[in-house]
Amino acid sequence: MLLRVGIDDTDSKENMCTTYVGAVAIERLKAHNIVAQNHPKLIRLNPNWKLKTRGNCAVAFTVKVQNHQVPLVKETVLKTVEELAELHVETTNPGVVFCQGEKIPTKLKVFSKKVVQDIVTIEEAEALAREIGAEAHKFKLGRGIIGALAAIGNTLERDWTFELIAYRTPENRGTPRKVDAASVAEMDAKTYPNTFDNLDPSTGEIRITPHTPCPILYGIRGESPERVREANELVRALEPIEHTIIYKTNQGTDEHLKKVKIAEAKPYWSIIADGAVCLAPRIITGGHVIFRIRDETGEIDCAAYEPTRQFREVVKKLIVGDRVRAYGGIKEKLELPLTINLEKLAILKLAPALRKENPKCPSCGKRMKSEGKNKGYSCKRCKIKAPAGSAKVVRLKREIDLGKFEVPPRARRHLARPLIREVHVKFPTREF
Ligand code: ATP
Repeated sequence: MLLRVGIDDTDSKENMCTTYVGAVAIERLKAHNIVAQNHPKLIRLNPNWKLKTRGNCAVAFTVKVQNHQVPLVKETVLKTVEELAELHVETTNPGVVFCQGEKIPTKLKVFSKKVVQDIVTIEEAEALAREIGAEAHKFKLGRGIIGALAAIGNTLERDWTFELIAYRTPENRGTPRKVDAASVAEMDAKTYPNTFDNLDPSTGEIRITPHTPCPILYGIRGESPERVREANELVRALEPIEHTIIYKTNQGTDEHLKKVKIAEAKPYWSIIADGAVCLAPRIITGGHVIFRIRDETGEIDCAAYEPTRQFREVVKKLIVGDRVRAYGGIKEKLELPLTINLEKLAILKLAPALRKENPKCPSCGKRMKSEGKNKGYSCKRCKIKAPAGSAKVVRLKREIDLGKFEVPPRARRHLARPLIREVHVKFPTREF
């Protein structure tokens, strides 16, 4: 029989990572000759969820077992979570879900999508587990059953990527990570775009090593298990690696985004909204750039925050009337308009940039001055006048083009699909 296992909410800001807990559980089962089928899943959940520790991820895997092995699997997984989870930290509330059967119930798939795009409650998760006959184990508040169910229910049918994760040995955790930067640059040069987000092109900064005190040494993201494995051969770690795992993931797929009219947008959602710029970009304290768009239903602010760096340069050049498609998460806010934290921006139509030019003095060639509304123009020096209506409206060259623009890797959300994937990935089963 197929037994599906979901795990979530095991880490704290100071330690651990649910991907590691999953990887250890899988290793321990392997020692009993119980092998996870295909690739285990690393599922990123709603990136705007306020109770997430870091990247809001959960893991799931499936094992094929005989009836008599089921208790062993359950005991191994539960003991691993109990041993490794940061249970002493108040905000860590692990959940483990076991679900038997060949097919994933449609209701679970629907729930799974909701956890990526919206908010659900622990009660909703418990009711669903009961309904589909899944076994949900709660540690403390057990909030993790939400992510555990969502990870089992996400079948990664539309689009998917892979991540190879290398874990540090316990004695090195919490110390600076030692990975040869030149080898990462070489790996990127040889494997991009089959792997992506290895480096930030504008700063050269390595993106495969996290900056948190978790057990991960590095993670390589790519289009297939073969590609991330090849890339891993090129990376030179300068400290021991405990073990590696390859997860199939929804990272880099835009699964979190839903297309809405502006008035439908809600805090915590991630949306795609079309509109016309109705308030020109302005730079606020901290270097953030804000502008406003409007459709027939309402208005919403769009923000390109300082960490998005050069992306802001595109945003700054928008003018009132430009038609755009904004992609991004909506921050929690009580008053309207809400704000989209931009991940991507498509410029669909450019409005003409017009400037009124006063007539030139026929004698000295300098621009004449207005005498007041409808009073015409004059050159004070040459004492020459020109009638009202003799100013010309000229069209200025716009400094931006139509197209799609994205934030750099350093500011990218795990779920956001890098533009290179849209160009590069040609798998017929994947929709863009
Ligand atoms: P880790 O890297 O260990 O997975 P994390 O950043 O993913 O950490 P968690 O510690 O797992 O964050 O905390 C998120 C908690 O919120 C989990 O209990 C999860 O089940 C729950 N959760 C995630 N997404 C949602 C959602 N959309 N609605 C309600 N609860 C959610």
